[in-house]
Amino acid sequence: MQLRLYDTLTREKRLFVPLDPSNVRMYVCGPTVYDFAHIGNARPVIVFDVLFRLLRHVYGESHVKYVRNVTDVDDKINDRAARDYPGLPLNEAIRKVTEQTERQFHEDVDGLGALRPTVEPRATEHIAEMRTLIEKLVASGFAYVAEDHVLFSPQAMNAANGVLPRYGALANRSLDEMIAGARVDVAPYKRDNTDFVLWKPSKPGEPSWPSPSGIAVPGRPGWHIECSAMAWKHLGEQFDIHGGGIDLVFPHHENELAQSCCAFHEARMATTWMHNGFLQVEGEKMSKSLGNFVTIRELLADWPGEVLRLNMLKTHYRSPIDWTLKGLEESAKTLDDWYAVAADAASDQPAETIVEALSDDLNTAQTIAALHGLRSAAVSNEQMRGTFAASLRFLGFLGQSAAEWKGRKQQASGVDAAWVEGLIAARAAARVRKDFKESDRIRDELAAKGVVLKDGKDADGKPVTTWELA
Ligand code: AMP
Ligand code: ZN
Repeated sequence: MQLRLYDTLTREKRLFVPLDPSNVRMYVCGPTVYDFAHIGNARPVIVFDVLFRLLRHVYGESHVKYVRNVTDVDDKINDRAARDYPGLPLNEAIRKVTEQTERQFHEDVDGLGALRPTVEPRATEHIAEMRTLIEKLVASGFAYVAEDHVLFSPQAMNAANGVLPRYGALANRSLDEMIAGARVDVAPYKRDNTDFVLWKPSKPGEPSWPSPSGIAVPGRPGWHIECSAMAWKHLGEQFDIHGGGIDLVFPHHENELAQSCCAFHEARMATTWMHNGFLQVEGEKMSKSLGNFVTIRELLADWPGEVLRLNMLKTHYRSPIDWTLKGLEESAKTLDDWYAVAADAASDQPAETIVEALSDDLNTAQTIAALHGLRSAAVSNEQMRGTFAASLRFLGFLGQSAAEWKGRKQQASGVDAAWVEGLIAARAAARVRKDFKESDRIRDELAAKGVVLKDGKDADGKPVTTWELA
């Protein structure tokens, strides 16, 4: 099986060859933990979960390491902590906010059927690695100290000869354009307007750590250096896949790449850079001011996580996705049908067609088409039913039994199965005594609650009535 992945840096779909097939390494930028994650944040979680599952299938479960960080130093976290816990020292308040938000994030993404990454490092636990990287960069002339800040110089990077990539290559921009386009009100301590912060002094009361490079006042890291440090600590100087949403390409990933390549004097940080497209809601950019901002938590109150998961995977990960109620309703219907057909079939291997479709740059639309094909074959073939169920489980579906799935819907609708069964028995009795008025009345009573009856015959030719929710 050949795996091909689209690489943002070279802008082409390339054969994926891991640096070490016994240790395939992937880093994905995780959440900044200050509030409930929104459904856009769920997209990289689901997309890279599918890739993680595929890599585990191809290279073996114990040969894939997936690192997704937690950003727990950020102004938004500080603001939230000061607002929610005004009586507490800021550092304690920050810990409360980050721990609570991280717990919520885990509950939400567990609800989406995402496997936990191998490691979920927190930025605040990697300050020592950040300091080491910063000192390497200063020592080799790619960064400098100015007014208690440490700044990285993209111009120094592009002036260096040798293996280093060009700053701007990932985002496909030239440094000259960036210089020309930069804002005029540049901080006075910057030598060039494209220089970015590796370390800065903390304001009084803010979280702070001893600074690198002989700076006397305590400070805190810039955002980009956090990921370079955590990736280095857990995956090494070079690794296979670096992922995140498309909004991270510039400046975040461009800067991570610059820092890591310059610190280690190497041509690449990751072999493959992958970015998911943006999610919008009902045709509009999601934003609090437009009132269409929706959290994973809110959606999970109304829909099973697997419906959200399927709805996300219907669109190829690099395309923009329009999140709509109509799409969710269709996804729910599809899953009702898949649960009914797969009906707890014992399973072993997912279908080759599924693995093949995913191996073509995670072609999930093709994968779902293949699932529909398997579903048709499964209706009349017991072995195919097993393959169908295994394929669904491989993709993170069928996390519950068919009875639980159906029961959940009944619960949500307030329909009690025992009550339905009781009325079906009463209706059968009425039909035996030819009281069709009563049997019709019972059918109507159930229909009013959304219960649809289907009359048929069992294997011995005896009449049976089954039911489902409309
Ligand atoms: P943040 O917490 O904003 O840094 O985002 C966490 C992850 O979610 C990053 O990989 C972002 O690129 C991604 N992300 C944020 N908003 C969206 C969106 N609307 N659609 C898709 N991905 C998003
Ligand atoms: Zn990052």
